[in-house]
Amino acid sequence: MKTTIGFFLTLSISGIAYFALHAKPQEPMSTSDKKPNQPEKKVVKTEAEWKQTLTEEQYRIARQGGTERANGEVYKQFKQQGGGTYYCVGCDAELFSSKVKFDSRCGWPSFYDPSKAKNIKTIPDIDGVRTEVKCNVCDAHLGHVFTGEGFDTPTDKRYCINGTVLKFVPDPKTDPQTK
Ligand SMILES: [Zn+2]
Repeated sequence: MKTTIGFFLTLSISGIAYFALHAKPQEPMSTSDKKPNQPEKKVVKTEAEWKQTLTEEQYRIARQGGTERANGEVYKQFKQQGGGTYYCVGCDAELFSSKVKFDSRCGWPSFYDPSKAKNIKTIPDIDGVRTEVKCNVCDAHLGHVFTGEGFDTPTDKRYCINGTVLKFVPDPKTDPQTK
């Protein structure tokens, strides 16, 4: 019996020794496990389909270029939200991180930088003055971006976004409301 145990012990010790000698140095998990950044597929729906999936207010803003009331209920909720991510209400594309939101006191959710630039596109507004911000995946109207207003942020850009078309998913680690 003793010899059997000794045998297995030797076997397992040599196994550990073998592993220790031959194991590759650990690579950081984040780089090897991450999927390559693939362009999101375009989400295209008919107007009738959009009307079915969006609320009336979401439809008015996202599909018809409307603007929500300043300092409304959505904005109050936005100000109370902690850490998390903001997604497009039309297609769930990731748009902004709470890390880049700031209080511009303009009455609408403000961000200074899109967390994933590929899901945001900016085009000259039909008013010929402003720059419109749209979701690059489903073409939802999100708001406007203003530059060089003197805000104390790394970009001095204000992505002035309708909270109605944002879907907030709190990060349990940093959002105090989810605790
Ligand atoms: Zn979208």
